[in-house]
Amino acid sequence: MEAELVVLGAGPGGYTAAFRAADLGKKVVLVERAPVLGGVCLNVGCIPSKALLHAAKVLEEAHEMVPAGLGFSRPPIDLDKLRQWKEGVVGRLTGGLTKLAQMRGVTVVQGTGRFVSPSEMEVSDERGGVTRLAFGQAIIAAGSEPATLPFVPRGSARVIDSTGALEIESVPERLLVLGGGIIGLEMATVYHALGSKVTVVEIQNQIIPGADVDIVAPLLKRIKARYEAIKLATKVTSIEERPDGLMVGMEGAAGAETQLFDKVLVAVGRAPNGRQLNLEAAGVRVDERGFVPVDRQMRTNVRQIFAIGDIVGQPMLAHKAVHEGKVAAEVAAGLHSAFDAHVIPSVAYTDPEVAWVGLTEAEAVAKGVAFGKGVFPWAASGRSLSLGRDEGVTKIIFDKETKRILGCGIVGPNAGDLIAEAALAIEMGADAADIGATIHPHPTLSETIGLAAEMFEGTITDLMPRPPARSARG
Ligand code: NAD
Repeated sequence: MEAELVVLGAGPGGYTAAFRAADLGKKVVLVERAPVLGGVCLNVGCIPSKALLHAAKVLEEAHEMVPAGLGFSRPPIDLDKLRQWKEGVVGRLTGGLTKLAQMRGVTVVQGTGRFVSPSEMEVSDERGGVTRLAFGQAIIAAGSEPATLPFVPRGSARVIDSTGALEIESVPERLLVLGGGIIGLEMATVYHALGSKVTVVEIQNQIIPGADVDIVAPLLKRIKARYEAIKLATKVTSIEERPDGLMVGMEGAAGAETQLFDKVLVAVGRAPNGRQLNLEAAGVRVDERGFVPVDRQMRTNVRQIFAIGDIVGQPMLAHKAVHEGKVAAEVAAGLHSAFDAHVIPSVAYTDPEVAWVGLTEAEAVAKGVAFGKGVFPWAASGRSLSLGRDEGVTKIIFDKETKRILGCGIVGPNAGDLIAEAALAIEMGADAADIGATIHPHPTLSETIGLAAEMFEGTITDLMPRPPARSARG
């Protein structure tokens, strides 16, 4: 078999690269080991987790309307139906991708690809068949897999990763979430809503360590009140399988302890798949952690071989992979493209959602950047209060001199949707006046971005612009 361009991996980065290259006239073969397109994100990541998070939200919101006079009794939960519904959501998207591949004339080959030379790949299918594929150019989009820890028992049905957690085989009574990052906290949200008693253990002294502490604080406060325990600055040191559960050893500021759990979700990050592709046969450099170094055109050290997505480095996010995929396809087709995004937004779809983009306040301080900030508390947002929520915050970091926006952090319902405006503002070089003078629709949560800029400018009227001056009578 021959391909002008082969794309290895059909996640968001890979299928985007394949489709864009086909649209630019390339004869494309897309190699994917799973029987469906979409990769981790569509099948066992972003999309099924969002479907389950929606179910969690319905459960939580119904419960929270009791004080407003709407008394819902707790609904019976049918895990089989919930799973089927989630799979239906995924199926619509992956089915759509198959049709799009057909319409573009992209040939999909199912199997596991490995390089045998700088211009050839072998694709092995599950039945032991091997297809030899000669290519002119290749785009590696083979992603990442969940990382694990040496003391985690292998093969235990009680130990799950994000893929296992999304299967919702059961609702464990006592769930330990190992890692207070995005996956850990999103899955904690789901399992808490379904009825598990959730304990989160995070090695750093903050959940979601990439975001500012004040932006994470409202989430921490809410989950502290609802979950069994949030153990910060705590290390899991051992996990021992017993007939009645998993005995977990932990060490934190308060000393060492052991506790029994029915299941443990391991969510301590993801590791790139760079070591699984026999890249040395193609002469492609892989670093010691398994990442494939690339330049701004997404080229590896071998000119005709590109790499994109999780396998080229952090952040391991679908939306980064998609843009890199477009760049790689365009460069492969002879266009003068380069990956030149200033910022990549991050979102945790927890309740409340946490989103941030560009420079965080902690980074600004660490780098000695001269900055100012505008902070708008959602307790002053009519829209937020009408949702029954008041804990949100929108914070914008500005360059002190030019007043250009450098970064933004948002916590609150729908923060993940709101952060896009800040990303656009950064890409466009907007300053505080641009943002504050942009008319945001009322009453929306999006107003909080304009109002945060007004807080910085001192033009806010919905709150006091500065600490009020002392009156004459003191
Ligand atoms: P993560 O890096 O977000 O979080 C892992 C957490 O585990 C960190 O807070 C880390 O400090 C902690 N940790 C590491 N070792 C530990 C240990 N021994 N004991 C206790 N805690 C430990 O990684 P993740 O949540 O596993 O997610 C993996 C990747 O997938 C990330 O790149 C993430 O951005 C991506 N992802 C994104 C989304 C989204 O965009 N909404 C959702 C899920 C996953």
